[in-house]
Amino acid sequence: VKGLSKHYSTKRPASFRKSLVKAVDDVSFHIYEGETYGLVGESGCGKSTLGKTLLRLVEPTAGEALYQGEDLNRMPSRQLRASRRQLQMVFQDPYSSLNPRKTIGRTLEEPLIIHGIGSPQERTELAMRMLETVGLQEEHYDRLPHELSGGQRQRIGLARALILEPRLVICDEPVSALDVIIQSQIINLMRKLQRELKLTYLFIAHDIGVIRHISDRIGVMYLGKMVEEARTDDLFAQPLHPYTQVLLSAVPIPDPRVKKERMILQGDIPSPLETVSGCAFHPRCPFAVETCRKLAPAKREVAPGHFAACHLA
Ligand code: SF4
Ligand code: MG
Repeated sequence: VKGLSKHYSTKRPASFRKSLVKAVDDVSFHIYEGETYGLVGESGCGKSTLGKTLLRLVEPTAGEALYQGEDLNRMPSRQLRASRRQLQMVFQDPYSSLNPRKTIGRTLEEPLIIHGIGSPQERTELAMRMLETVGLQEEHYDRLPHELSGGQRQRIGLARALILEPRLVICDEPVSALDVIIQSQIINLMRKLQRELKLTYLFIAHDIGVIRHISDRIGVMYLGKMVEEARTDDLFAQPLHPYTQVLLSAVPIPDPRVKKERMILQGDIPSPLETVSGCAFHPRCPFAVETCRKLAPAKREVAPGHFAACHLA
C-alpha cells in the first residue's frame, strides 16, 4: 500500500460549508505473504475504510494498493475479477451480511455461482466440506442464519470467504460482536485455517488484546494516519508513539507483581471534520511540545522494522 488516501467532502449542517474528511490519509505499508498484519485504532480512525479500499469496495482518492505488484485500482475488470477471488473479506456482524431467508448451504454456494465454479452437485460437496473445515456439520447446510449462534454465524462468515480459496483475507472486527470465550475459539480457528490453507490476514480490530493474540506485525492508526508500525513483540516491549503507549497502558497485565501506570488521554477523539494542525494527536498528547502544534511528524524507521510518526520517538 503506497500513499493511500480516502478523503470525503461533506457539508457541515451548521455552517453549510464544505469540509474535508480525511478518513485515510497517506498510508503506506506492506503485508507479507503468510503473515497476520493487525490494524488497530479507536473506532472512526479509518481502519475499516482502509480495508475496504484494498478490496476496491471503496475507491481511494489517491495512492495505490498493489497486490503481487499490480495496482488493483488500475486492473482491467477481467483481471480484477480473478484477483478478487484471491482477496476476500470477513465482516464484524455476519448476521447482517447473511441473507435471513437463504439457507446456509445456498449462502456458501453463492460465491461459487458468481465465479462460475463447479456443477450444482460439486458446489454442494464443496459447501459441505467447507462446513466441516470451519468446525460445523453437514446438518447446518439446510439451516437458516437465525437458527445459529453468533459464533456459528461467524464460522459461516469465514466459510463463505474461504470457499473461493483466497490468499489474502481482510477481517474487519471479526470477533468484536462475540463474547470472550467464543472470541478465542474463533481466533484459534482462524490461526488453524491460516496454517492449513496458507492464508495471509489483514486483521482489523479496536481491541489491542485481540490484535496482540493473532498478529505478527501491528499497525496503529489514529485519525486516518498510520502512527506506528512494528513486529508485535517489539511494539509491546517498546511502544514509541504516545498514542500506542496509551492504548497499551489500558491492557491488563496478567502478572500482579508488575505495576503499570495507566495513561489517561485528555479529551475525546476529535471529529474528523476538524482539521488539526501539526501532529493530529497533539491536542491529546501528554508529551506535546511547541513543534508538534506546527509540524506534522513523518513516519520514520526508528529501529529495524519499527516505524513511528512522532517528533520525540
Ligand atoms: Fe505527541 Fe508531538 Fe509525538 Fe505528536 S509528535 S505524538 S504531539 S510528542
Ligand atoms: Mg470499523
